[in-house]
This record gives sequence, structure tokens and C-alpha cells, in this order.
Amino acid sequence: MLNFTYQSLPARVRFGRGTIAELGGELEKLGCDKVILVTSAPQSEDADRLREQIGGACAGVFKRAAMHTPTDVTQEALAEVVRLGADGVVAIGGGSAIGLSKAIALHTDLPQLVIPTTYAGSEMTPIIGQTENGVKTTQRTLKVLPEAVIYDVDLTFSLPVGMSVSSGINAMAHAVEALYATDTNPVVAQMAEAGIAALYRSLPALRSGASDPAIRGEALYGSWLSAICLASTSMGLHHKLCHTLGGALNLPHAETHTIVLPHAIAYNAPNVRDAVEAIKRAMGGGGIAGRIYDIALDSGVPVSLREVGMRECDIEKVTDLVMSRPYANPRPLDATLIRRLLANAWSGLRPDHSTYL
Ligand code: NAD
Repeated sequence: MLNFTYQSLPARVRFGRGTIAELGGELEKLGCDKVILVTSAPQSEDADRLREQIGGACAGVFKRAAMHTPTDVTQEALAEVVRLGADGVVAIGGGSAIGLSKAIALHTDLPQLVIPTTYAGSEMTPIIGQTENGVKTTQRTLKVLPEAVIYDVDLTFSLPVGMSVSSGINAMAHAVEALYATDTNPVVAQMAEAGIAALYRSLPALRSGASDPAIRGEALYGSWLSAICLASTSMGLHHKLCHTLGGALNLPHAETHTIVLPHAIAYNAPNVRDAVEAIKRAMGGGGIAGRIYDIALDSGVPVSLREVGMRECDIEKVTDLVMSRPYANPRPLDATLIRRLLANAWSGLRPDHSTYL
């Protein structure tokens, strides 16, 4: 075994079914009795239910969280925080709602309790990505790490199957890249393998079992483990590509991860034998890039960047952006291969182990 460093991150997690009932008690533990509740517009009713549940402990609700955490929305929310005299933030929703909660914490140091309803994984990380004038920047600081997280399986039943599958593959990407991160370690590797296995079993099963608590529970558990992997290690080529595609072209987050992941795995596979073996164990066999592609295809979610609005002429621009900023990756970045990867992901090709040799 090699020397390694493992840094655990302080967060209290409640996991299960019906756990949302514990919200009041968890807020008391945080010493909060006047929180602002934040969410995205489509989850307005979820926020209203929580407001009713916690009564006087909710000072107000802000429902305009948006993807990629635009700073102008954060400014509006901060004005509300001041106006309400809030002493904490509760976020319910996906990475967009949680991103806004983190942005508020970054400016105010208020404690956060977040309730994730997708599989994106932001809730466990000290990472915040923010967008200003079309430019997305990311930083790591413990100031944005939520103090408490309530995972309630029941809140995920309403996530449409397509969105669930792409969000679940987004989660799987965190675990995959943690396995070959420069700062990986045996603890994270265990969580990554278990996370991939749980997601690999549950995501295809959602097609006929979206209301099955056991399947939903396994998907949420896998996404939690994968989120810890994201929080604990430095991500590589896959996240770099998705960050660039999302930031430069405003492509949708989970779908972009879903399309790119099989290609990033096929690209890195020759240089990460141990990680490939771990993923094979988790999936019960080889052809791992194709297996992930097939989950997406069979679930009817986009498998090509063309389908999510990227223009073919942007392949060159994104290649240049990716090559212009060096990033730790187990296989050196080769401009010709990155261009080929983007062209293949754009057209929706099913990659295999020989695609990027
Ligand atoms: P999202 O939060 O934008 O949610 C997608 C849509 O699904 C929204 O309309 C939302 O209201 C809806 N939704 C969420 N849960 C639902 C449910 N249970 N039922 C019905 N509808 C539901 O998308 P996302 O993929 O969860 O998050 C993407 C954002 O999160 C991006 O901005 C990304 O950068 C960020 N992110 C950050 C980190 C980090 O560590 N900082 C990690 C992952 C993602």
C-alpha cells in the first residue's frame, strides 16, 4: 500500500425514507430558528411544504435558484437574507438550489442544511462554481460545505426517469475519476467502487421501477458515496471537459456528463488499469465505457452533444480551451485525440477500449 492522505469533511448526514420529518430537529441542532429556504422555480411546491412543516423557523422562501449559480441571482438572494435577518439556509433541490445555498454561505458564513433531490452530489463538497458574465469559475473552500444533509428517498420519486439516469451517471463520473485521481486513497476507492456498483444496479432498473423505494434508495445511496469521492479527490479529464462544455457553451450539466463519461473512460483506460479493474468488479464485467453508454441509450437520454445543442463548429474551440489550461490527468492530453473524443461525443458514437488508442 502506498502512503496516502485522507481528509474527512465534517457534515452530518441523515439518510433514509421519511427523513425530511427530522428537519425541525436538525435545525435546532444547528441553532437555527429563522432560516431562508431556497429552491428552483419548478420545486416551488416542495419549498412551500417545508415552510409549512417548520412554521416559524422559516423566515422566508427564495425560489429563483438557477443552474451554474449566476452571481446576479446570488445578489438578489443575499438581499433577501439581510431583509429577513436569516440565521441559516435550507436548500431543497438539485445542484442549482444547493449551489445558491453555498453562494449565500460564502458571503455570510451562515450554516446550511441541504436536502438533495437529484444525484448531482454538490451537497457533500466544499466546491462552488459560479457564473458571472458567462464565465464559470470554481473554488474550493470549507466555507461552502453544508453542515447538515438530509437525504430522503421519498423526495426523489418525482425526478423523471431520464433526468434521474443522467443525474445518476453524473454521480458515477465522480466515483470513476476518484479511482484514478492523483490524490486517491484506499478509503475513497472503497466508496467509489461501492458507489459505482449501486448506481450501475439501480439506474437501468429505474425504467420500470421509478417508484420502487429499494431502487430509488440504492440510486441515492450510490450518489451519496460518489459525492464523497468528488469532495475528497481532484477530478481529471472528464470533469475538465464537462466544465469547459458547460461554461463555454452553456450545455446542460447532467446530460453533458452522461454523454462525455464513456469517452473519458475509454480515453483514460490504457493508463489506469487498477481503476478499470475496480469498475469492472463494480459492473460485473468488461466493456465498461460501452455499458455506461448503453444505460443512457436504453433510457432514452441524449448520447450525443449534438442532441443537447452543441454545434459541430464548436469542437475546435472546446479542444483549444481544454488544451490551453493544463489539468492533472492520468493520460497526457493529446490535442488530436481530444478533438477526436469531442467529435465522437458530438456525433454519439459508442466508444470501446480501442477508440482512443
Ligand atoms: P438542477 O439542480 O438544475 O435540477 C434540474 C431540474 O430538476 C431543475 O428544474 C429542478 O428543479 C428539477 N428537480 C430536481 N429534483 C427534482 C425532483 N426530485 N423532482 C422533480 N424535479 C426535480 O440540476 P443538477 O444536475 O442537480 O445540478 C446541476 C448544477 O449543480 C450545476 O450548476 C452544477 O455545476 C452544480 N453541481 C455542483 C457540484 C459541486 O460540488 N459544487 C456538484 C455537482 C453539481
